[in-house]
Amino acid sequence: MPYAHRRAQLRATMAEAGVTHLLVSSPANRFYLTGFELHDSQCAESSGVLLIRHDGPDLLLTDARFRETALELLAAEQVVIYRRRTELATILHDAGVRNLWIEEDYLSVREYHALAQKLTLHAAPPLVEQLRQIKGPEEMDRLRAACALNHNVFAALPQLLTVGIHEAELAWELERRFREAGAEALSFPTIVGFGPNSAKAHAIPGTTPLCPEMPVLVDMGCRLAGYCSDQTRSLWFGRSPSSEFARALDLVQEAQARAIAILGPGVPAAEPDRVVREFFARHGVAEHFTHSLGHGVGLETHEAPRLATHEETLLAPGMVVTVEPGLYFPWGGVRWEYMVHITEDGHEVL
Ligand code: ZN
Ligand code: ZN
Repeated sequence: MPYAHRRAQLRATMAEAGVTHLLVSSPANRFYLTGFELHDSQCAESSGVLLIRHDGPDLLLTDARFRETALELLAAEQVVIYRRRTELATILHDAGVRNLWIEEDYLSVREYHALAQKLTLHAAPPLVEQLRQIKGPEEMDRLRAACALNHNVFAALPQLLTVGIHEAELAWELERRFREAGAEALSFPTIVGFGPNSAKAHAIPGTTPLCPEMPVLVDMGCRLAGYCSDQTRSLWFGRSPSSEFARALDLVQEAQARAIAILGPGVPAAEPDRVVREFFARHGVAEHFTHSLGHGVGLETHEAPRLATHEETLLAPGMVVTVEPGLYFPWGGVRWEYMVHITEDGHEVL
């Protein structure tokens, strides 16, 4: 992966934005720029931070557990080992930093206060996130592979639906298939909803058993070579779908087709969401579509850009977004989700 090239690109956008020193603490951003540790082991325990400087070598600041990994990725003079994260302020100050741009969503209050004692802090604009929106060829290969595996596992879903299986049992079986096919993890905990649970947008699989004549919703994805997939299917278990289910599925699939049809470079990311909302409103079901239409996918399951009402981004070649309209009712819900690659002359459904 072209990490040094990405850091050079970032430096150019920092210069335009007037950012001189950027502290990267988001794990996905840190990994994107260096290949170092895609995940922190838990929310309050960072594996390290990256300092991108406008005028000097970039520094990776981490603790001794990660020394060898860091030295495989960066030159020795770029790796700084700290004992405690609260030493960061002193280390950065000694390195000549006075103004520091921080990622507001990825710094604890404790760390913020420690840094603010010695440095002038500014909220960083989402410069790394903007770079990450446009996928390079190696990233597209990985996203395609993750998506292809998702299709394979979904192809087995109808056989796995048997009377009495619990939601959690099905979720585990799907996860096992992902892992046995080479995925290093799920991209998010699999959502399996039977019956009315299918209306919970983020249903946690439980002990609800599958019974005949029931809607089933499965939203799942895997992480393969770092990159995520994310797809949803809704189906009916039984002889014939209820009329409510059949109508909801028709509307959702038609809405999705209309949204995908307009995807291409230069289209405002809010536009497909608007098209779907208008279509649902014409059919009297607008209030049953309770989330945004889609989101970018890459190193994270949810990343920029969003296909949502207030999003101002224009779609551009190399972006990968989900298109996932859904309708939710007391009897259950329907969602259908594809991943779509924005190409030079339109789009490609992955
Ligand atoms: Zn999904
Ligand atoms: Zn999604």
